[in-house]
Amino acid sequence: MGTVGENEHQALVVLSGGQDSTTCLYWAIEQFGKANVSSLTFDYGQRHRIEIECAANIAEQAGVTNICLPIDTFTALGGDALTDSQIDVEPSKAPDNDLPNTFVPGRNLVFLTFAAALAYQRGIGNLVTGVAQTDYSGYPDCRQETIYALQKTLRAGMECDVVIHTPLMNFSKRQTVELARDLGGLDAMGLTHTCYNGMRPPCGQCPACTLRAKGFAEAGIEDPLLQAKWPTRLKRFITRCKAKVRRRADRLFSCDLPAAICGPDAKSIESRRFAVFVTRILLARTDQVVGNSKPQ
Ligand SMILES: [Zn+2]
Repeated sequence: MGTVGENEHQALVVLSGGQDSTTCLYWAIEQFGKANVSSLTFDYGQRHRIEIECAANIAEQAGVTNICLPIDTFTALGGDALTDSQIDVEPSKAPDNDLPNTFVPGRNLVFLTFAAALAYQRGIGNLVTGVAQTDYSGYPDCRQETIYALQKTLRAGMECDVVIHTPLMNFSKRQTVELARDLGGLDAMGLTHTCYNGMRPPCGQCPACTLRAKGFAEAGIEDPLLQAKWPTRLKRFITRCKAKVRRRADRLFSCDLPAAICGPDAKSIESRRFAVFVTRILLARTDQVVGNSKPQ
């Protein structure tokens, strides 16, 4: 069995835009060096398209390339809550097979097979995936024995020495959060998407949000995603508005307030007080929304 090629020391990370795969991206960068790492995201018809955008943003922040491959077959198959918007996410497991309805059958097998095909084409020797058998959902395609079997199949089927790395396989959510911190990936956590209900800020109620919150709480680390309550672009827009308001306020406070706000005829002390009140409310509100960061 030969090696996969001259890029065998390179790694391809399956990046979903979530917490685990983002941690794996930073793990791969440490293991293989940034120049040797690239990321792969699948557009598989997931109902929350924000995942794809998050993955691209995370890869950009980490300084690695991101490839997005379309696979629309899972949507055609239907039957699960992550690709079928008609099915609500159920926190409980189905009684017949002990799996929640967020399980997309074959997803990780297909992802890793396509990832291996791309790696083969480019001579890349390593795949990295964030699957974990400690995952509370107990997805069977996240188990160690499944990954071993798949690696064996891929090696045989493509006649190569591809290695599937699973750095989080036996990690709890707390350990994953701590690993992200140790690898310098905490900032990127603020760009990730976890919520099964596709909400940003996250809903905090769904199984994915609950599990994520538990991990951060146990690690004693504040989740950067909860601090970044507004999408980056919106935050920048508001920050620019805030700068305008502040400039206007500076002018107002340094000149005749009643004339500036209520017109040149406003003379009463009530008008002055009202003008100060309105301006301070505006400033307080913008501070509340965007924090005290400097305008960008
Ligand atoms: Zn949620």
